[in-house]
Amino acid sequence: MGKRDFVKNHIIICPNCGKEALDHMQECPFCKSKLTPKYNVSNIKLVKRIRLLLWIVLGALAITLIVLKVLNIV
Ligand SMILES: [Zn+2]
Repeated sequence: MGKRDFVKNHIIICPNCGKEALDHMQECPFCKSKLTPKYNVSNIKLVKRIRLLLWIVLGALAITLIVLKVLNIV
């Protein structure tokens, strides 16, 4: 998949002026009308934050288990 294809996959057509805009854009760069992004940027940020938090919790749990094993508590 070339760079052209990548760009092509991320293009939406502005419903107001019919020109091409990228799907992460909130407004058309040509006519400044509101666009509906394919995905919500704040949603992606939230998912990333939750995933990070999950990894921290899992990591802490794993470390706790290893420490307990090493200390022969479990
Ligand atoms: Zn437009």
